[in-house]
Amino acid sequence: MAADVEALYLHIPFCAALCHYCDFAKTANYRDELVASYFQRLHEHLALWCAHLPRTASFASVYLGGGTPSLFSTQFAPLLALCAEHLAPDCEITLEANPQDITRENLTCWRTLGINRLSLGVQTFNPQHLHFLRRTHTGPQARDAVLLAAEFFADNLSADLIYGFPQQCQTELAADLDTVVALPLAHVSFYNLTYESGTPIGRAQQRGKLTPLAAEIETQMYTFLCTELAAHGFEHYEISNWAKADKRSRHNSTYWRDAGYLGIGAGAHGYLPAAAGVGLRYSYTRNERTFSRHALPEVAEMQALTQLPRLLDTLLTIDRRAGDAWLLEYLASSLRTVYGVDLQRIATKSGKAFVPTAMLDAPLHEGPLRRHNNVLYLARQEWWRENFWLRQLLPAFA
Ligand code: SF4
Repeated sequence: MAADVEALYLHIPFCAALCHYCDFAKTANYRDELVASYFQRLHEHLALWCAHLPRTASFASVYLGGGTPSLFSTQFAPLLALCAEHLAPDCEITLEANPQDITRENLTCWRTLGINRLSLGVQTFNPQHLHFLRRTHTGPQARDAVLLAAEFFADNLSADLIYGFPQQCQTELAADLDTVVALPLAHVSFYNLTYESGTPIGRAQQRGKLTPLAAEIETQMYTFLCTELAAHGFEHYEISNWAKADKRSRHNSTYWRDAGYLGIGAGAHGYLPAAAGVGLRYSYTRNERTFSRHALPEVAEMQALTQLPRLLDTLLTIDRRAGDAWLLEYLASSLRTVYGVDLQRIATKSGKAFVPTAMLDAPLHEGPLRRHNNVLYLARQEWWRENFWLRQLLPAFA
């Protein structure tokens, strides 16, 4: 039943300061006692989920995300030890890190714990744009952090960047890109800046206090990134992700392939694809204090992983997917990846066959759509138009 749970996500919500674009579950207002009780709860929840996994269940990846997990080091040891029997021999274990936390001491500790991949939150090297985001590192600090981290994670170092800042020009993006490709990175994510409601920049946009970059300039920037990163040996494998050979993020690929994963911690999401028909999604409360305070209920009578969401229902929001909602979600996430849309999976899970409409004749015969071994692929240059293609494709699923 739970053999299709392939990955584990642990959320660490603590940050040294809050960035103005950030929509993650996080807090910069905490004391040591809260951190201690949060990690203790994380341990208890992980023990509970693991107790309901079959002995053969194996995580191909673990992701320590946040928040800012790199504020911590030895605290991860008990968590990784607890699930050790479920870690695949070549398990990808990623830690999200901020440049300020990159020290020899931390890097040594993380490697000793078995962490074998580092994802650095660089965002940009440009001082104005870093200030706009309210990041607390500088461009040179970020560059030095990558170089130092590469001494420990040379073969598995990733960086997150953002483009599309208000008034950003092509030259500024090119400067960021030049810096990125000169660094020893195996993987890079470039995200288009989004204005999430509830964030300072989202509110500023709603009040008309800042003007996002024009869509056509963002498209030009995206095209520029695609061309340049390909020229520097990066494979474009998801709309915002590029990797050197064999360096795709195994963990994020889990999400795009409709595979199952456990998520634990404030705001963490999980997905059990074999549960409740087309799958069951859950998300933990976003409030780290609620998560830290809440005692776990009695578990003795619970036998199956799929029953745990019910057991934890005061902390979890459960979303039993109806077929149409699952289909839309799966299409949206897989269409803009090299993995494509598995038509057999759709038929099996939702009972919907792919019957191309007349509208799809030309795209299927002349591109940009391609059907191969019952998987539907969209050409990379069209990934940014996913909404258009979703509207074209949905009527084909009868
Ligand atoms: S972007 Fe990262 S460091 Fe900044 S507030 Fe969000 S989680 Fe914290």
